[in-house]
Amino acid sequence: MEQKSPNNFLELGDNAVELLKQLISIPSFSKEEDKSADLIEEYLQGKGVKTHRQQNNVWVFNQNFSPEKPTILLNSHHDTVRPNSGYTLDPFTPIVKDGKLYGLGSNDAGGALVSLMATFLYFYKSDDLKYNIVYAATAEEENSGLDGVESVLPHFGNLEFAIVGEPTEMQMAIAEKGLMVVDCEASGTSSHAAHPNDDNAIYNAI
Ligand SMILES: [Zn+2]
Repeated sequence: MEQKSPNNFLELGDNAVELLKQLISIPSFSKEEDKSADLIEEYLQGKGVKTHRQQNNVWVFNQNFSPEKPTILLNSHHDTVRPNSGYTLDPFTPIVKDGKLYGLGSNDAGGALVSLMATFLYFYKSDDLKYNIVYAATAEEENSGLDGVESVLPHFGNLEFAIVGEPTEMQMAIAEKGLMVVDCEASGTSSHAAHPNDDNAIYNAI
């Protein structure tokens, strides 16, 4: 296969997996994501990209950013929830088993986070893009915190649209499923909202 450095597609993919392994090993609960933000910043700087940071949010612009062009945002979050009691592996030890990378945040949303970053790096130095690209690794998604993407959006300028990475098995979804706060107690089996679950505590509560 033709090797095209430094925009080598396979190399970017391998690097993304290595970065995700490091991110898994760093606890990054919502509001405590400073160490993973440090790593993301250092990683991007190591690729020669000038980074911007506000609290635990890190964002970057493509090298030939032009105010005349429309801008696309690539965004995902690097905070995680706390590991649930059903966890059978060490949540902070990245393990590859049967072609899958296991560890807390590998799925939500580390996979999307590093994939969108690889996409950004692939196009970073292009001088013939019809649009600008902003990549943002943001905080406090899991707790809908005020110091997450909402707090840094004004720094990105006018956005044409955004691609937000979440584990939806490559199915496109628009916005979020919704939010409702109820003071009650119900039990079920832990899982991610994007995956089927016959014993969903929310449905049980209804
Ligand atoms: Zn998520």
